[in-house]
Amino acid sequence: MTERPFPIPDRDTAPFWEGARRGELRIQRCAACGRHVFYPRAVCPHCMSDRLDWVRASGRGTVHTFTVVHRTTDEFSADLPFPVGLVDLEEGIRMMARLDVREPVVGMPVEVFFERVDDQLSLPHFKEVEE
Ligand SMILES: [Zn+2]
Repeated sequence: MTERPFPIPDRDTAPFWEGARRGELRIQRCAACGRHVFYPRAVCPHCMSDRLDWVRASGRGTVHTFTVVHRTTDEFSADLPFPVGLVDLEEGIRMMARLDVREPVVGMPVEVFFERVDDQLSLPHFKEVEE
């Protein structure tokens, strides 16, 4: 089996990955217009300000939509089948991630947790909120 490809932090994404390593879901918030921003970038997509700060997101949201992956490349075949979803976070942004949920449903409340890959990298996944 081929080794899984992993993200390589860069200038824009390093704070996101540093947060994930510490078990925090970090997103950007624009100091000019106050809106949250995801994915990480240098300029606010709403007002074009470059005054983007990093904040800790609640990690809670709902499933906007999802798919169940049944075919993939060799690197991920051991995990098949697995759901991948678009999650609407409480902060008003949408992010794609693995859903560690047996039967996902649109609108399902979910919360983030982190899959530790090694000392340097953890990946955000979402699981169903325990009632
Ligand atoms: Zn802005």
